[in-house]
Amino acid sequence: MKVIVIGSGLAGLTAASYMCREGHDVTIYEQYSEIGGVTATIHKDGYSWDIGPLLLEGLAPHEKLGKILTELGISDKITIINEDRGQTLPDFAIWHPKEYKGRYWRREYFKEQFPSESEGLDRYYLFYDQIMTLMAINSRLEWSKGLKFIWLKLKLLPKFLKVKKYMDKSAAEIMDSFFNEPKLKAVFMGILADFVVKPSEFPGLGVPLSNVETAFDKRIPLKIKGGKLPVYHYIHNGCEQLVNAFVNYIKEKGGKIQTNSLVEKILIKDNKAIGIKLKNGEKLYADIIIPSGGAHKTFFSLVGKDYLPSEFIDNVENLVHMESVLMVHLGIDFDPTPHQRAALCYYYGTYDIEEAVNRCRSGDYHEGKEGFLLYFPSMHSPDMAPSGHHAVTIYTIAPYILSKGDWVSRREELADKLLIEAEKFIPGLREHAKTKVIMTPLDFKSRIFVEKHSFGGLAPIMDQQNPPHHTPIQNLWYIGAQSESGGGVAGVVAGTRKAILKLLKEL
Ligand SMILES: Cc1cc2nc3c(=O)[nH]c(=O)nc-3n(C[C@H](O)[C@H](O)[C@H](O)COP(=O)(O)OP(=O)(O)OC[C@H]3O[C@@H](n4cnc5c(N)ncnc54)[C@H](O)[C@@H]3O)c2cc1C
Repeated sequence: MKVIVIGSGLAGLTAASYMCREGHDVTIYEQYSEIGGVTATIHKDGYSWDIGPLLLEGLAPHEKLGKILTELGISDKITIINEDRGQTLPDFAIWHPKEYKGRYWRREYFKEQFPSESEGLDRYYLFYDQIMTLMAINSRLEWSKGLKFIWLKLKLLPKFLKVKKYMDKSAAEIMDSFFNEPKLKAVFMGILADFVVKPSEFPGLGVPLSNVETAFDKRIPLKIKGGKLPVYHYIHNGCEQLVNAFVNYIKEKGGKIQTNSLVEKILIKDNKAIGIKLKNGEKLYADIIIPSGGAHKTFFSLVGKDYLPSEFIDNVENLVHMESVLMVHLGIDFDPTPHQRAALCYYYGTYDIEEAVNRCRSGDYHEGKEGFLLYFPSMHSPDMAPSGHHAVTIYTIAPYILSKGDWVSRREELADKLLIEAEKFIPGLREHAKTKVIMTPLDFKSRIFVEKHSFGGLAPIMDQQNPPHHTPIQNLWYIGAQSESGGGVAGVVAGTRKAILKLLKEL
């Protein structure tokens, strides 16, 4: 079959890999001049920075992304580096102790900080362990068949019953049921600000999953009841290594990738997708079309509302997306480790996550004051900066549309303000900057051709319905960050694999 994939981010690359693997004739059309979407590594003056994912979940051999790379035979094409990160709040900083103090050291540390919360902390960590066991079994289940599948399903049921009572609770409700101290609640809910989702909207069962203890101490043993814990990795020399692994696989299998090829229309006849029209007017026909761009652009511009049922249109119109980011990349000529001892640290400037998200969604940009992260890729991959120098990325969640001014006129000013906030932790960043790249929401928008840039796709909101992979139009299968909830890399790649296996089965 002739297959057209629209977009060369990890979703498009995964879809193309699985279709090529089955011997189909696959071409990816990418509007940008480079392959990779947001999983790209950029280079300037001897420094390299990732513009998207940093510390990735799912890459270990026992996890979904790791299993997919093994299934495609490309896991040896990247080198992964197991790491953890720091978390700084206005009154305290959480870094793993120099000497390993067991898998529950954070619980004990919080008990010292918040003695009145000791009982709640014991209950929270019991809940955490239950969720981890549940997820460990579930992740094995997803890759099992036959008797093993049935056995794991039976094992899963009693574990699920233990946490069922929390199922309809939001993150805010779950935290209220364990703790009284807003500062302690914010420790576990801070990450929601990164997803631009309010604690009152985020599923409570997701709280332990977005605060896996291995993210804060890589020495924690992975083996637990039911399987293994999730774990975090960097990709040596940046995310483009992962992109290259997929690209080489696709090319070896005869697939083609055409950059600078903007798909303007998906051609439809008798409710069937039959091809695409490029911006240069060229029409290309295929049996299957797999778009991976933004949902609005894909369905309302490329397809057109006339071809879609009203219920589907309503669903796409009402999707809540994450907001965008302001990112500043610097090349610096000093060693930052006396100020930040590991490659990545999240710095939170507020404890009120609910209000911070409300403000961000209404266009009220915090100018770096409510938090940002500082990431030094050259700490784990020295080739990403000249010898003795470092590459650093400072970024923060930012509204796609500013309520005051716009990203064109305020670009330099807001980048500078973000650096001023970052200098409170790493002094001298601006003075020692040898080179600088600023990326505003508008830069992301043109890089990946979306209506509104949203940094991780759909916001992970309870009861939000994702657009289905199998669209109402025959032979049109939708994939990518805006087809998955909270679409991080592992979720997008695994979601795409699932969609393509379903497509292949239906064929
Ligand atoms: C700043 C940032 C930080 C992130 N951090 C993390 C993280 O730490 N961990 C994590 O797991 N995830 C993270 N993510 C999210 C994750 O990287 C993305 O959700 C995922 O990579 C999306 O992959 P994708 O293929 O769906 O989309 P994209 O990478 O956006 O790719 C879509 C591609 O389609 C192309 N395209 C779109 N429309 C057309 C068209 N009409 N014609 C031709 N081409 C088209 C675009 O140009 C683009 O190349 C981060 C994202 C960002 C931006």
